[in-house]
Amino acid sequence: NNLLISMARIFRDKLSEEELITRSGGDVFYLLMSWNGRDVMTKRLMRMFYLIEENFRFNHNKAMYRLAFKAGVYEIPDNAENPSLAADKARYINRRGDRYAESTVNYFTEEIKNLIDRENDIENRMEAALENGEFRIYFQPKYYLETEEIAGAEALVRWVSTPAGTVTPPCDFIPVFERNGFITKLDFHNFKNVCQMIKKWESMGRVPLPVSVNFSRNHLSNPDFVLTISEIADKYKVDRKMLEIEITESAVFDNEELLIDSLNALHDAGFRLSIDDFGTGYSSLNMLKNISVDVMKMDRGFFVNSTDESKSRLVISSVTKLAKDLGISTVAEGVETKELIDFLRELGCDIVQGYYYSKPMPENELMLLLKNSGS
Ligand code: C2E
Ligand code: CA
Ligand code: CA
Repeated sequence: NNLLISMARIFRDKLSEEELITRSGGDVFYLLMSWNGRDVMTKRLMRMFYLIEENFRFNHNKAMYRLAFKAGVYEIPDNAENPSLAADKARYINRRGDRYAESTVNYFTEEIKNLIDRENDIENRMEAALENGEFRIYFQPKYYLETEEIAGAEALVRWVSTPAGTVTPPCDFIPVFERNGFITKLDFHNFKNVCQMIKKWESMGRVPLPVSVNFSRNHLSNPDFVLTISEIADKYKVDRKMLEIEITESAVFDNEELLIDSLNALHDAGFRLSIDDFGTGYSSLNMLKNISVDVMKMDRGFFVNSTDESKSRLVISSVTKLAKDLGISTVAEGVETKELIDFLRELGCDIVQGYYYSKPMPENELMLLLKNSGS
């Protein structure tokens, strides 16, 4: 409370007569200041932050505490809009900013405005798009390295807008859906679609093809997740062993125990558990220790972009061997060249997926491919 009071005092001290300050709650203050360009704005704000910190240290005699402030600035245009919209923009840019140990001042720019417009457009259209069946499943086949036969396929979502037919890649909308929570709805929808298709293929007399489906990590905090997907698989009478659940490894672990429990529950329910983008997080080895992983997908970045090739080879070969010893099947992703194929084969990697063999394709093309390859 004392800190908040001193902040308010210093802000007020440093504002001129016609400038305003208000606190909206918590540690969030809004300042309405005259505009004299970014440099002046940054300087004035940083000066206030400096004074607050200095005052804090002086009063508490605790040099070990450091304060870091984040300011989000929106330059209100001449054709001024509603003040609360203007405040939202400042708040938006402030929320977006990363947490740094140092105080920062970030500005609401034209690019950010376009990004928000695009995100709003996506959010406004998503529910209707789901209803209209605009989210389609593409399949990217995976191949056994040894025999070059098709081992399965990964289901990848595409947004095919009607009536224009434009295809939006997942990287444009998945992050938006992960932020607003819609991803959980979409993932279940995709999973249903996939189960339905697998069932259909089977009734057409095809040899069952294992399919992997991506699930956002957002699901892992849902205690009913495993139950829900089990019910879907059962409803369509799809053998759970034919379904591989891909969960991305990530650098962020909010609740490690919960994560371990949910992943193990997936495996115990009979689904195959696949760790996507293995090697991109910081906890890869811990995961292998604590979780019943069935499949490990090594990210493309694992093979390419390496500065030291011999070292990189050693890491990949050791990881592949480790997986083998643990009974985990290895899939190399994003494989584009013959050289890489040869290298991976040499290492004993089990399965590859990548443009070298096939790109993601719609269901009818996959059926043709399977027919031509005799499976
Ligand atoms: P991911 O799971 O790592 O999927 C692999 C991505 O690499 C796919 O991009 C695929 O098209 C691409 N790829 C495959 N082979 C190659 C190659 O040889 N070279 C290169 N450069 N790229 C290759 P896509 O389909 O754009 O998917 C991007 C990401 O979106 C996926 O990454 C996945 O994380 C996410 N995603 C896709 N569908 C879903 C979904 O239904 N649910 C959720 N939660 N996420 C999804
Ligand atoms: Ca994946
Ligand atoms: Ca991946």
